[in-house]
Order: sequence, then C-alpha cells, then structure tokens
Amino acid sequence: MSHQPRIAFVTLGCKLNFSESSTFARQFTTAGYQIVRPVDKSDWYVVNTCSVTEHADKKCRNIIRKLHKISPEARIAVVGCYAQLKPTEILEIEGVDIVLGAGRKGDLFEVISSYEEARGQVTCPSAIEEVHEIFPAYSSGERTRSFLKVQDGCDYRCSYCTVPLARGGSRNLPIATLVAQAREIAAKGLCEIVLTGVNIGDFGRTTGESFFDLLKALNDVEGIARYRISSIEPNLLTREILEWMASAPTKFLPHFHIPLQSGCDRTLNAMHRRYTAQMFEDKIALVRELLECPEERGSRVFFGIDVIVGFPGESEEDFETTYRLLERVKPAFLHIFPYSRRPGTPAAERADQVQESVKTERVARLEQLSDRLHAAFCLANKGREAEVLFESANKGGMMFGYTDNYIRI
Ligand code: SF4
Repeated sequence: MSHQPRIAFVTLGCKLNFSESSTFARQFTTAGYQIVRPVDKSDWYVVNTCSVTEHADKKCRNIIRKLHKISPEARIAVVGCYAQLKPTEILEIEGVDIVLGAGRKGDLFEVISSYEEARGQVTCPSAIEEVHEIFPAYSSGERTRSFLKVQDGCDYRCSYCTVPLARGGSRNLPIATLVAQAREIAAKGLCEIVLTGVNIGDFGRTTGESFFDLLKALNDVEGIARYRISSIEPNLLTREILEWMASAPTKFLPHFHIPLQSGCDRTLNAMHRRYTAQMFEDKIALVRELLECPEERGSRVFFGIDVIVGFPGESEEDFETTYRLLERVKPAFLHIFPYSRRPGTPAAERADQVQESVKTERVARLEQLSDRLHAAFCLANKGREAEVLFESANKGGMMFGYTDNYIRI
C-alpha cells in the first residue's frame, strides 16, 4: 500500500459502542493510519453495529452497502451486537471481509493488521456464554466530555431484550484500571466523564469490587470536574450511594437515566423486571428527598425515564396506568421505545402482540407528555444560577452546553 492507510468508523447504537470505536480509532492513529470520514474513499471501513431493534439491523445492512458503493475495493469489518447475533446474515452482504463476535471485538486492530495474510473472509463468531473478555475503552472525540466504559454484558434476563445474547454476562474492569483511564482523560483536557456500560449498577461481578467503591475512587481523580451516570437500574441505585451524594460535595451530578419500561405491575412481571411500580416511585421520591431541598422539590434532579410501549399483552388500561404514574412522578424527560419483537427472546413468542398502529398512538401520547414535562422542568429552574460546561464550537455567535442537571443552555 503506497499511501498512508486510511480507515473510517461508523458507530451505531449506545454510548458503549462510541467509547469502543473511539478507542479503536486511537489504536489505528497510533499505528499510522489516517482516520477519514465514512463518506470519503478509504482502505478500511469499520462498522460498529447495534441490534436493539429490527430497524437497527436493517440500518446496519444499508450502511454496509453504502460504504461498499463508496469504495468497492475497500475492506469492510463489522463488529458489535448485530455481528454477534447474526454473523452469517452479514457475511452475505457484498463487500464484507471481517465479522467479529463479542469475544474478539477487542482484537479488531490485530485482526485488521494481519488481514492481508488471511486471504479471504475472516469470521470470529463467539459462543456468548464463553465470552469473559472485557477491553478498556473511553471516547475522546469530543471537546469536553468522555464516555468511560466501566462494565459490559448483563446477567439480567428481561424477556424482551437481546443484549445479554449480544454482549454476554456482566463483567467489569478493575477500579484501578478505570482510575488510570480517568486520569488519562483528564490529561487530554476533558473535564466531564459519563460512566457507561450495559448494566453499570451491577459493577463488580468479576472483580469483587462495588459500584459504590468505583464512584468514590473516581470522585478523587484530579482534573475531572463532573461525572454523569449514563443509565442505572432502579433497584441498583442504592440508598448508600444517594446518602453519600447528599452528604458531601461530590462531582456526581443530579442527573439520572433510569429505566421504568412500564408502570403496570402485570407488565413489569411479564418483562421479568426486578421491581414493582411502587418500588420505582418510592426510589424517585427517595432521590428527591436526599438530593433536593424542600423548595427545589421536583426541579433539581433531572430524571430521564425509559418506557417501552406496546409490550405484548399491554391493554389500554395498562398503558393508562403507566401514563398516570409518569404524570405523578414528573420526570424531566421520557425515552420512549415502541416494543420491538426480537428473535430469541421469550416475549417474541407471545401470541398477544400489540398492533403497530396502537404502539404508534401510544408513542405519540408519551412524546406530548415528555415535551410538557421537560418544559415544566426547565421553567422550574428559571432564575437559578448554574454552572454550564460549554461543549460546542461557536456557531453563528452561539455555543451550547449543559447545566449540572442536564438543562441545555
Ligand atoms: S437489564 Fe434487562 S433490558 Fe437491560 S441489558 Fe439487561 S436484560 Fe437487557
């Protein structure tokens, strides 16, 4: 190859994928590759895939075809959840050279570096139950914030979810490694870290350490001003952690992304979730009691809540129960997902699937509710003085950033 080798990355899905792609890009840059944009001609394309819905799979296939059109002679490597779940389907797409399963994802650089000798397609499927590897990763493409991978995989078995099938069992990096990475991030001038993973509250499974230990250790890292917890199961956000956040000034921000999925106990049970609607509501009340002073009640802590609509068997009454709970809890934002039937999950086998038109209507109702709740949350903060970490470059005389409680300024 006469010219400097070029490589481009396309990343789909979650923050975890972004932290991993950014880490790959640093590895290839160090090895002398030029990182180019996916729209540019390249020698290699890497697609880091997501498979959370049928639509996500389709999107990956379309992107692979598009890249092959841009540079028909380029090599294409496909990694990520879709690559783990459906490697053969991907290998049938013209132009694909490498498909790596979850167990070999971390070896991408080595596999690509030795590809020329391989002569022909390389597939490294992984038996997911045998995947125990976890490779360190953090994102560094942005100006101010970094997504730090602290945990991977999940031992829960929610009946609608393929993530454990795609990413394997819960495992984590040692706290010492993560503290060293946080220092590396600080040395790059980034001052906010978002802890990311699949089920981060379950941190410690493979090292015997605890999520609380991790938070305390990271809190002492110099140069990092703010931490956000990307998403945490309600049952894993413990009173101990909240009392610590309330007792001393910590760098952990009053911003929680917590999955509810449904406000109806019958549905939660069918989803194999590990809490009831009342336990969820009590947890939100506890967070507010500990992290908000009385006059701030409901306006200080930003709650982003995940909700699935149209889970099999969800009646109109069940949906209304969820809607009423959200009206009572008044989170600042809703992440709304129409249920997606995923092969290999128990919920996909159920006969009482909800019609797409009903899902669409329920999504629309929750989107309106979310807009109303978000506007109310921002207004409740009007007049308050807040520290904002400006993120974007000056565009037309405007810059944007977020307050500690995730209001965009
Ligand atoms: S907690 Fe449930 S929904 Fe979340 S990744 Fe694990 S199995 Fe999936």
